[in-house]
Amino acid sequence: MFKNLLKSSLIIAIALVLKSHKTDEGMFPLSQLNKVDFKTAGFALNQSDIFNPQGVSLTDALVRLGGCTGSFVSPEGLIITNHHCVFGSVAGVSSKEKDYLENGFYASNKSEELKVGLTCKITKSYEDVSELVLDSVSPRMSPKQKKDIINKNIQTILKRERAQNPDLTIEISEMFVGYSYTLFRYQTLKDVRLVYVPPRTIGEFGGETDNWEWPKHTGDFSFVRAYVGKDGKPAEYSPDNVPFVPKKHLTINPKGTKSDDLVFILGYPGTTYRHQPAQFIDYHQQYILPFISEWYGWRMQQMEELGKNDRDLYLKMAPTIKSLANTKKNFEGKLFGLKETQLLKTKQDEQDELLSNMKSQKGNTQFLNTIDSLYKIRLENAQKNLILGRFSVDCGSFNAALAIVLLKEMYPKAPKKSDTLFWNKWKAELSKKLKGQYQILNPKLEEFTIAELVKRANATPSIQIKGLKKIKNPKKWASKIYKKTLLTNPTQFYAMIEKEPWKVYNSKDKLVALAEEMMPHLRASSEEQTAVSLKLDEQLPQLLESKIKYMNQSFVPDANSTLRFTYGYISGYKEGLNKHPQPYTYRKEIFEKNSTDNVDYRLSTPVKDLLKTDLIDQRLLDPETNDLAICMLYNMDTTGGNSGSPVMDKNGHLVGVNFDRAYTATLNDYSWNKDYSRSIAVDIRYVIFTLKYLNNANNILTEMGINL
Ligand code: ASP
Repeated sequence: MFKNLLKSSLIIAIALVLKSHKTDEGMFPLSQLNKVDFKTAGFALNQSDIFNPQGVSLTDALVRLGGCTGSFVSPEGLIITNHHCVFGSVAGVSSKEKDYLENGFYASNKSEELKVGLTCKITKSYEDVSELVLDSVSPRMSPKQKKDIINKNIQTILKRERAQNPDLTIEISEMFVGYSYTLFRYQTLKDVRLVYVPPRTIGEFGGETDNWEWPKHTGDFSFVRAYVGKDGKPAEYSPDNVPFVPKKHLTINPKGTKSDDLVFILGYPGTTYRHQPAQFIDYHQQYILPFISEWYGWRMQQMEELGKNDRDLYLKMAPTIKSLANTKKNFEGKLFGLKETQLLKTKQDEQDELLSNMKSQKGNTQFLNTIDSLYKIRLENAQKNLILGRFSVDCGSFNAALAIVLLKEMYPKAPKKSDTLFWNKWKAELSKKLKGQYQILNPKLEEFTIAELVKRANATPSIQIKGLKKIKNPKKWASKIYKKTLLTNPTQFYAMIEKEPWKVYNSKDKLVALAEEMMPHLRASSEEQTAVSLKLDEQLPQLLESKIKYMNQSFVPDANSTLRFTYGYISGYKEGLNKHPQPYTYRKEIFEKNSTDNVDYRLSTPVKDLLKTDLIDQRLLDPETNDLAICMLYNMDTTGGNSGSPVMDKNGHLVGVNFDRAYTATLNDYSWNKDYSRSIAVDIRYVIFTLKYLNNANNILTEMGINL
């Protein structure tokens, strides 16, 4: 009996070892796919199935869609991505009468598809250009000189490459600051149209309550289609354009996955900070994360309040509110994760170990002291710089005032009205400075924001600006000046620049006076920050090289919006780490959430009816629970920008669309952690279910090769 018990526990132990596949940190660039042991990991694919510059591979089905990722799922340019990736576009084509954001949108044929302002890029090839970029850079140069040479070299390479490939978009991405650079060639498709977006109570079910949370039940998916000119070349929107034919599109696996299955992602993760020193984490933990999350909370509250009784204004502000809320919670999650994992201490210990290894081998450790002293400056000035920075970032009207002041500085003497030559030039320069940056969401929001910033600046001892100190009641002051200023109305303001530029030059606008007063302080703050950043950047290659040499570490570049590969397994949480440790969520739980009075869990009537249906094709149901899987969890290494990334099974077939991470995985941006890092996708079975049973969208399903 005892022997048998021993035998069976041994079998269980071996099974567990076999099951708990080793995954690790790694957003591998295409150039480092050879670091992956595809066979041991459980793939039925090899490296060239993922990327094959000589043939066709899965990367040909991938697109960078705005700040997100998408993938081709049909031979006619149909792309699957997230609901939240097209949220802004949908808000843009919605109105009170045609509220696609609320009700969803379905083009039952191509002529109904709606033009949206998105572009998509396909990675065609890449090349390491580090040597060319760093040519003529010498250690004796100042950080600024180095940066200038690097920029000049980049421009030269880009010019040459663009001349050779006029049809492609060429970008050089810094894989590691001052150390390694890769040139990417992209095909850019500019005519993208909306095909399908589910109703908001599916696409955004759970809203902010469930954002960055597990368990989750959000149908965060949508479809768009890329078009090209009749000659097959990328072209601007035209009704005559034809659907783009991708080299490769993904096959759908409508059966989905089960626990422990291997899954992988190709996508465009945005930014991570894994190669930064320990002091960087300290700076973020002490200042950036708490400051920004609190400030965004304040901004959101103002917008919600203003949009309460004005649906059109709310729709205009909705994408901004959504993005602020997203960052706020992400930053709170990071703070939580940093505390739980004590990452700062781990990083510090690692740096101490590096220092002692280097000392024992007589390495030059001066750069570590330099990093330390630069961070002292950064920490000392953090609060001041953060507040001053928000004046121009969050107030379009103040930013416009700054542009006027800058141009007055450049041309301190105003000539006569009759000097048309001068005024034409001045006008052109001012318009250029304002272009693209001068956007006002709402004049009241501008007024409230500046009042709040003045109040906060005056409460910060390291900010001593006379013009601000004079303002005793910021709210009253702001209300007065915003009654008069023209700067909150870009259309009128542009008209004035056009007709009477001298009036703008000589403006007695109080906002311009404030900008004048603040300009030297803002300039000093920005110059100091740039100088510190440049010097820090200069130390980073040494930190990296030392880690490789003295700590035997290997180097996978930080995410930088270039195409990456990552893999992992469908995997829940260790007991105790999450209230829902299982890696799937199901339809019945949606009703449990909906029975609370949280508006984020509301369901519109058609969606409620849809979810209640019993007439589901058995093939879409999870065989174990006989329920419909909604979302799934896996231990991959993803970050922002991976939204919309296809989640594929071991055969490279589509089983889900990545859209989020769990709260504890927001930490990924600093470090991947095997217990905490979990990413989330909408299960492909829920996508198919919605298309089929809500909209009877057989044309989309057939196009994707699904016959139910
Ligand atoms: N929600 C994120 C995005 O928009 C995905 C993530 O950060 O994991 O890219």
